[in-house]
Amino acid sequence: MFYNQQMYGLGSKRSIIREIFEYSKTRSAEIGADKVFDFRLGNPSVEPPVEIKEAIIDLLTNSSSVTLHGYTSAQGDLYVRKTIAESIKNRHNVDITPNHIYMTCGAADSLTISLKAVVNSGDECIVFAPYFTEYRVFIQNAGGIVVESKPQEKTFQIDIADFESKITSKTKAVIINSPNNPSGVVYSEDTIKAVCNLLNKKQQEYSHPIYLIADEPYRELVYDNVFVPYLMNYYDNTIVCYSYSKSLSLPGERIGYIAVSPKMQDGQNVYLAICGAGRSLGFVCAPSMFQQVIAKCINAKVDVNKYLENRDILCKGLDEGGYEYVKPDGAFYLFVKALEDDAFKFYEKAKSKEILVVPCDDFGVKGYVRIAYCVDKQRIINSIPAFKQLAKEYNK
Ligand code: PLP
Repeated sequence: MFYNQQMYGLGSKRSIIREIFEYSKTRSAEIGADKVFDFRLGNPSVEPPVEIKEAIIDLLTNSSSVTLHGYTSAQGDLYVRKTIAESIKNRHNVDITPNHIYMTCGAADSLTISLKAVVNSGDECIVFAPYFTEYRVFIQNAGGIVVESKPQEKTFQIDIADFESKITSKTKAVIINSPNNPSGVVYSEDTIKAVCNLLNKKQQEYSHPIYLIADEPYRELVYDNVFVPYLMNYYDNTIVCYSYSKSLSLPGERIGYIAVSPKMQDGQNVYLAICGAGRSLGFVCAPSMFQQVIAKCINAKVDVNKYLENRDILCKGLDEGGYEYVKPDGAFYLFVKALEDDAFKFYEKAKSKEILVVPCDDFGVKGYVRIAYCVDKQRIINSIPAFKQLAKEYNK
């Protein structure tokens, strides 16, 4: 082969989500989409706020189309970055400026660029299991080595002792994702403080910075007023990777940002490394019109109550079926213990009841499946008898 083997490997690797996608399409054509309980994808089911449509119409009607559809500077339009910086300042009391903000095409892009900016070949990056599977790809693309830290059993909070055992002199970055995909867990303030204290101690011990990368696409999707600590307030060497994919239900528009903590050691040079990483990855600028849409809709929100309603219907049904799961405080995923040791076999058996969930071995925790409940409420209601029948077959 003359092409890149590693890239070929990535492109040709069997993907369970893609497989389920194909199966779901075929099965829906056979028996009808309403009879297939597809809980596979994290694609928001709640409409974007009305302000988004109004902003698009207003921009298309009243702006110069040459500017609206033109390039912005690589780090993003200055007015947009100012608006975001002010919003962060108001919401989280962080003294941040537009010069700490870099507009991106969503969280995946923010992570790829941030990792490329701070990781040198052979550096270790710690991820907390269960974790978004693409972290592996992003870290390896930056030349880093993935190090997994195991969670506490049952709560899926971070296990601080395990985390400590994974930090070495080669640790360059730690990725933290809360609310979490796939568990829906929000890490408590105590957990965050323990993580940050430990990192401060280790930075001193090794005399080099360890970057905390906060992957935050689900920050706004929380229930019952659960508090999501803003990591810049706990740790100076924080980089926030934010996205509007889930918070405003805009995943196809590809818009988000990177925010570098104003208190970061050597922060303006890290920001320049981010600019350089974006450049080296062929990133030109975030979508110009959607940058403006974000500035106009900076205080808009999706109706999180719709996800909450879905969560509660699903939890009640799973309780009645005798399932063990982690009750999600945020995001729109529910992490359920498979009814046999092998999550893949459980997934196959669920499939025979037309339930499509994702086995989570690749997320760093064995024996669990993920249910994405960002679907129409009726699908959840209709699926409950099938979940109960499935449990019955396992004698639950
Ligand atoms: N990080 C996590 C934890 C995710 O779940 C996702 C998408 O599902 C992403 C990053 C990528 O999101 P985006 O669409 O903003 O690139």
